[in-house]
Amino acid sequence: MTTRLFGREHDVLRRAVPDDLRARLLRFYDAHARDLPWRRTRDPYAIWVSEVMLQQTRVDTVVRYYDRFLTRFPDAHALARASTDDVLSAWSGLGYYRRARLLHEGVREVVARYGGAVPEDPALRLGLPGIGRYTAGAIGSIAFDREEPIVDGNVARVLARVHAIETPLGRADTQARLWEQAETLCKGTRPGALNQALMELGATLCSKSSPRCRQCPIKKHCLAYAQGRSADLPVVPKKKPPRAVVLVALLIENADEDALVLVRGEGELFGGLWNLPMREGSGVETARALLRDLGLRARLTAKPLGELEHVLSHRQLELSLFRARLATNRLPKQTVLRLATRAELAALGVSRLTHKALDRLWGGSVAGAART
Ligand code: SF4
Repeated sequence: MTTRLFGREHDVLRRAVPDDLRARLLRFYDAHARDLPWRRTRDPYAIWVSEVMLQQTRVDTVVRYYDRFLTRFPDAHALARASTDDVLSAWSGLGYYRRARLLHEGVREVVARYGGAVPEDPALRLGLPGIGRYTAGAIGSIAFDREEPIVDGNVARVLARVHAIETPLGRADTQARLWEQAETLCKGTRPGALNQALMELGATLCSKSSPRCRQCPIKKHCLAYAQGRSADLPVVPKKKPPRAVVLVALLIENADEDALVLVRGEGELFGGLWNLPMREGSGVETARALLRDLGLRARLTAKPLGELEHVLSHRQLELSLFRARLATNRLPKQTVLRLATRAELAALGVSRLTHKALDRLWGGSVAGAART
């Protein structure tokens, strides 16, 4: 009996902190949540789109794209029907195009397997291309009101501070603790609002470099604040400097000099985007070999038109731009290549690197260049 009583008391105590924390977070959210377009819907497809857009992109940028994207592709069926080029061009300017390709793939699967309805069952959602634990949890909690946790960068920072977690972010044990804490917190009423409250707090008051703890609604539960270590936590592992990669890129114009040869990128780096033909290496011999391997007969300038640097998250690309001109206005039949006029470029998903290179050639910008 004593043991049972102790067990019950212990349970009450164990719940007291999360309950008060939850209540404070929900009050904060109700009073201060920013009015963002994706917060006005419970449509799981629209929430999915917004969550994918928000990964690695600032809220104010996403606001400019979200409504436009949904007007063009209002539901899963519309997006599934669209071509890759249509999707990438609607994504133009948001960058990180891999996200768009995976969203497209995932939505096509939702149409093919579930008749266009995003599944409520988390296991089915997690089986979709491009949906990881975070996105599944965001859709589950916000659209379906399910007690599913989320941990993104903002939530991780808040929870690591609240619990004074000293192991570095990104490490498996840290992540496991964060997900555990997020799971405890999301249990109860309004799990979607609770998750968004954590994100909102991380995006506003509990910022990376200068947390405004005095105004924070949960400071009484925050260990980092109590210990005067808010600005020191979480421990963020040092990023490796980007690896330098030397490349040759070809600006190949047609005979009339009004269209340019592009190649569809494959793999992680520029997958799905249209790019200049590129190859690792340097000098005119590399440029010549690339032309040959593309099966193109073109007059190549012996000296590069210029050099270009482009920094990606893990790589620093150093490009020599060589200019070439085809003898004709047509390409041999190859699916990976296409000719694009300046007007057409605006409607294609074109990498930012290619955009920069085109500035060198044509001096102006091509609307809709990607951020990758
Ligand atoms: S008290 Fe400070 S560090 Fe703790 S959650 Fe609030 S803003 Fe973040």
